Amino acid sequence: MARAWHLKSRPQGLPTNENFELKDFDLPGLSDGMVRVRNHWLSVDPYMRGRMNDVKSYVPPFQVGEPMDGGAVGEVVESQAEGFAPGDLVLHMSGWRDEAVVPARLVMKLPDLGAEPQQFLGILGTTGATAWFGLLDVASAKEKDIVFVSAAAGAVGSAVVQIAKARGMTVIASAGGAEKCAWVRSLGADQVIDYKAGPVLKSLAAAAPDGIDVYFDNVGGDHLDAALALARQNARFAICGMIEGYNKAEPTSLRFIMRIIAARIQLKGFIVFDFQPRMAEFYRGMGALLASGKVQAKETVIEGLEAMPQAFLGLFEGANTGKMLVKL
Ligand code: NDP
Repeated sequence: MARAWHLKSRPQGLPTNENFELKDFDLPGLSDGMVRVRNHWLSVDPYMRGRMNDVKSYVPPFQVGEPMDGGAVGEVVESQAEGFAPGDLVLHMSGWRDEAVVPARLVMKLPDLGAEPQQFLGILGTTGATAWFGLLDVASAKEKDIVFVSAAAGAVGSAVVQIAKARGMTVIASAGGAEKCAWVRSLGADQVIDYKAGPVLKSLAAAAPDGIDVYFDNVGGDHLDAALALARQNARFAICGMIEGYNKAEPTSLRFIMRIIAARIQLKGFIVFDFQPRMAEFYRGMGALLASGKVQAKETVIEGLEAMPQAFLGLFEGANTGKMLVKL
């Protein structure tokens, strides 16, 4: 018997604890090619909000009455699969639960990079890869570019700040509250905007008098609009996430959308999974930055499976600095 969070009902707007239910469920017996994993670390991510709606997207929606899932790191406790043995530390997608039986083809042994296991859910996982490929590939950011990044005290944003600084860019970052702003500055950001203290457009105009070459969008809404307003000719925008709108029925309208034409702005959306074939390149690059101390991987850790919804909902209130994780 294992325990998993199930989707109890679909939320309208911001989810509440009522939308989730922690229940026992039977684990299937182990057949050929399967492993049983005891989870040690679970990831909560903003994209999971979209999966609570009954809409088609790049990942299927959670089903009412069914267990939820997501990124997890755990330890193999039983194996019927070649190449996996009890004690192996693995990454897989059967999170939101304490134990899982998973086909070995969907499980990855943690690479030997001398890192902490939970970092494969954060700086060395999809979070770090999103920052890496979004900045360097999608936005083609290069030395001396002026880069604006939103949600900069979060998991992806703080990685973007540090990669950009390591590559010789000027970084203007936005985060909510003085404490987070001070931390982002300590990561090397040249200018930090507290978006809760005043309108983003006004703050960005003051922080970037020469405009911006790159915008790494984690927020959408007023941040995206301000970036459009301040974009230089041929600016590149990596459209990664729009958390500001995840709990809204209607998107925020963009006053400066037409600047795309005159300023020849390139906007490109992306999903990190597109870069799966290039993970070895990411491990080399990010692994080296981590090992050299040029990148720090801060985590906000909440303890216990019971706290999963609290951790998840905290993402929409800015309860995390760096990567939000649940430790079992
Ligand atoms: P974060 O660690 O950044 O957590 C979310 C943060 O968003 C909060 O800490 C909060 O910080 C900020 N936030 C919440 N609501 C608002 C709001 N209304 N306005 C401004 N900021 C807000 O999460 P991740 O790093 O995991 O994800 C960051 C973004 O990247 C998300 O939009 C996510 O969907 C996207 N993403 C996209 C991927 C892709 O493949 N395209 C992959 C992974 C993530 P604060 O206290 O500063 O408000």
